Amino acid sequence: MYDLCVVGAGLIGSAAARHASLQPNIRVCLVGPDEPKERSMESPREIFASHYDESRVTRRSDPDPIWATLAQKAMDRYRDLEATSGVNFYSETGCMMAGPPEGQFVTNTRETVTSQNTQHDYLTPELLRQSFPHLNLPDEDVAIYETKNAGYINPRSLITAQKRIARDNGCDVINDIVCEISQHHSGAPLMSLLTESGQKIEARRVLIATGSFTNFRKLLPPGQEPDLKLLPVAYAKVEVSAEDAKRMGNMPSMLYRGGGAPHWPKDYPRLPNNLFGVYLLPPIKYPDGKFYIKSGNLHGPDSPQVSTVAEVKAWFCTKGVTPLATKLASMVTAVTKGIQTLSYHGDHCIIADTPTRYPYIDLVHPDLGVAIGGNSISAKSSDEIGRIAAMLVLYRKWDSELPAEAFKLKLKDTSKSKL
Ligand SMILES: Cc1cc2nc3c(=O)[nH]c(=O)nc-3n(C[C@H](O)[C@H](O)[C@H](O)COP(=O)(O)OP(=O)(O)OC[C@H]3O[C@@H](n4cnc5c(N)ncnc54)[C@H](O)[C@@H]3O)c2cc1C
Repeated sequence: MYDLCVVGAGLIGSAAARHASLQPNIRVCLVGPDEPKERSMESPREIFASHYDESRVTRRSDPDPIWATLAQKAMDRYRDLEATSGVNFYSETGCMMAGPPEGQFVTNTRETVTSQNTQHDYLTPELLRQSFPHLNLPDEDVAIYETKNAGYINPRSLITAQKRIARDNGCDVINDIVCEISQHHSGAPLMSLLTESGQKIEARRVLIATGSFTNFRKLLPPGQEPDLKLLPVAYAKVEVSAEDAKRMGNMPSMLYRGGGAPHWPKDYPRLPNNLFGVYLLPPIKYPDGKFYIKSGNLHGPDSPQVSTVAEVKAWFCTKGVTPLATKLASMVTAVTKGIQTLSYHGDHCIIADTPTRYPYIDLVHPDLGVAIGGNSISAKSSDEIGRIAAMLVLYRKWDSELPAEAFKLKLKDTSKSKL
């Protein structure tokens, strides 16, 4: 019998398991499937994850102070986590938030970095051009540049680090998918979990950290479905030579939101008001030994959604040189200067957005909690989201200076769909 079972061994779940495993006299287990070797429609597997990659932008700045605080708390622990686990996952390349000076993105980010005293440089258009001659941004645009304490993390390695420390602290890590969670009331209440391979797990408390897949198994009590919008997203990986990668050596991670430059591709997927929303990572050496610049488009409230497990599976199983990948790759060529594209391909993933724009970190009932709804930017903050959730479920206490109300779970009104 465990004190806590964390369901979902992704970025948030593995962090929650580690934090719980550090508590005295607490028996923890973490249940979730490893990354599949291949994603294919022929395979019966239908539960995937939003972290199957080698890079995620990390930064202490954000247009929203709550998100910025979550990131800062998590990032303050990165180096300790690396040292304790012996796994490196953090590359401190810096990060830049760019756009028109009067645009909401830059204005709000500037307000947050100023009010939170986040170390940064403000790059005027001239400074931006001088600092990054390999970038081709609109002439009049500016950037908030975190030169230090920002860059990118490797999400796969971060999970390896979290699991390793959790295991070292006695956490059982179980490679399986949970199909059902129920509560029994004969005597003291007991949470009971059933996995796809037929294992039965018993625990006093359960934390659900199953991301985009939460509503695809019977995890919450009957009739309760978290209000999650599942957005299919794509990104392109543009292969560059080792020489080009070296030449771009000082390139930081970058997010851009604004009107774009006249030479940027007209058919690029846009945000509301026809704005460009683009993120770009510096050249990174992937496990195949090649260097790639990864780039994708930011999402808006009206982005298309999927809802069924079949749609999600089909999206995860599509990759390669698709028309969308071509559009995303063409942006890398437009945003950089003098870089030769050797090849490119796209990959697909799903993100889980909440109507509150923050993750749900809440109790469904006193013995069941959730930490779901990454809103496309939770990788960097997963250690703090997981920590708050683990403390909430274990001690039924909100252990954060941030307001608990911001993270309240919202359920779907399922009565409407039954009419
Ligand atoms: C293309 C892309 C780019 C992104 N870029 C950034 C970025 O630059 N910076 C950033 O901070 N964030 C970024 N994100 C967002 C970030 O990756 C997500 O917010 C983060 O992965 C959410 O963590 P999670 O633990 O909720 O979900 P996941 O990491 O998906 O983990 C959920 C886990 O639960 C498991 N699971 C699901 N159902 C079950 C079940 N029934 N039983 C057991 N296990 C189950 C899954 O297999 C998975 O391992 C990006 C996301 C995508 C898709």
